[in-house]
Amino acid sequence: MEGNAMNRREFVTRTAAFGLIGPMVFQKRAFAAESGKVETISDGFLELPTNFLLPNGLPDNIPGMSLEEVAAEGTFKVSCNVTAVRRPNGVVVFDCGAGPNFMPSAGDLDQNFAAAGIDPEEVTDVIFTHAHPDHLWGVVDDFDELLFPEANYHIAQTEWDFWNSDGALGTVGEERQSFVVGAQNRFDAIGDRIAFFEPGDEVLTGIEAVDAKGHTPGHTAFVVHGDEPTMVVGDAISNNPISFLRPDLAWGADMDPDAGAETRKRLLDRLASERMRFVGFHLPDGGMGHVERKGGAYRFVAGS
Ligand SMILES: [Zn+2]
Repeated sequence: MEGNAMNRREFVTRTAAFGLIGPMVFQKRAFAAESGKVETISDGFLELPTNFLLPNGLPDNIPGMSLEEVAAEGTFKVSCNVTAVRRPNGVVVFDCGAGPNFMPSAGDLDQNFAAAGIDPEEVTDVIFTHAHPDHLWGVVDDFDELLFPEANYHIAQTEWDFWNSDGALGTVGEERQSFVVGAQNRFDAIGDRIAFFEPGDEVLTGIEAVDAKGHTPGHTAFVVHGDEPTMVVGDAISNNPISFLRPDLAWGADMDPDAGAETRKRLLDRLASERMRFVGFHLPDGGMGHVERKGGAYRFVAGS
């Protein structure tokens, strides 16, 4: 990695130099770095019907790949990977998993945190990528108690406003009405300890919020700046290999498929250009890895 990766100083210097070219050039803000060990902890898995994710089927111009290979028996079986960052002052967690009331195959977070040796009371902050059930509903346990009782919670203002809006029920379609009601009552559980952010904000020291809308209106990715910067992409890059081979493909789980595709292309380009480690919530093998360019597309290389 070392020979290729741009170090932080080069990065800041280069982006500063770009800033001299003209006022239209986007200048990247420098974010603090903080030491911390990034790992993923499984919440179990989901089984999703193929026609939900790919309503128009798989295009036949993906070389060497058939739908049977990626989705056996009409179902995508996808992992759920919660990211935990152990920092000197406590643990920061990205998303809360599905909890006990979404799918029997998910909601394993509490036991897997215990197996990883993390006490839920050590969690100081929970940062949400978005408010879908598999990311939010695990905020409370079987007894409606907070899974992380000492934590503060953070979510994009846009995401919070969308799920709380009168229009949300009309926007999501018949089969996902429960997503709205479910989000609203989980929001109630954390309403007195929620903080809001916008894309570009530093949510906590060294944690950069990156606009990743499309999957949901306020869906957000995060860069955890530190010894090895890591981007938590949530569901913006959610299928291996389809999201990498055809990032432009409309994805049925994205509320706004065009915006979802634009976000996916932008994040993949940044991950490949900066050779940045990342975590995809639904990617296999723990969800952590790197992106490599492959022809005109990308490839997922799993591993920390
Ligand atoms: Zn998800």
